[in-house]
Amino acid sequence: MILVSACLLGVCCKYNGDDNKNNNLIELMKKCTLIPVCPEQLGGLPTPRKPAEIQAENAGDVLEGRGKILNINGEDVTENFVKGAYETLKVAELFSVNYAILKSKSPSCGCGFVYDGSFSGKLKEGNGITAELLIRNGIKVYTEDDTKELQKF
Ligand code: SF4
Repeated sequence: MILVSACLLGVCCKYNGDDNKNNNLIELMKKCTLIPVCPEQLGGLPTPRKPAEIQAENAGDVLEGRGKILNINGEDVTENFVKGAYETLKVAELFSVNYAILKSKSPSCGCGFVYDGSFSGKLKEGNGITAELLIRNGIKVYTEDDTKELQKF
């Protein structure tokens, strides 16, 4: 069983009400049980919602209370993002998953690179809040772009 960002499976949970459907992952459903989760919805945010980005050195700082997540209007949505991360971890633990495939670049789901907080499309090294929490709890996180690694499933 693998935890997957719900938007990658075609669920319309993206900030703009759209999805990020990925046909490789739809194909993977023939071989593995994929458990869809959307941390931002689990954290109580509506869909559609304003885009938000990490305003901190890294996701760890946010989890430890030293940084914030603001949406493009400057509203503080840190609590929703942190709650969504912990709710996602709860689902991961319920199903004893060891792996997650999460949407690249997202301030919740991104792994390796995330948007840099300037709302300009620029990236910086780092993880989203949920990816960081899952990694800290021993779950191996991939993105949909790790096509080579995903072939092992
Ligand atoms: S929080 Fe994750 S699952 Fe939800 S829309 Fe954003 S990238 Fe997709």
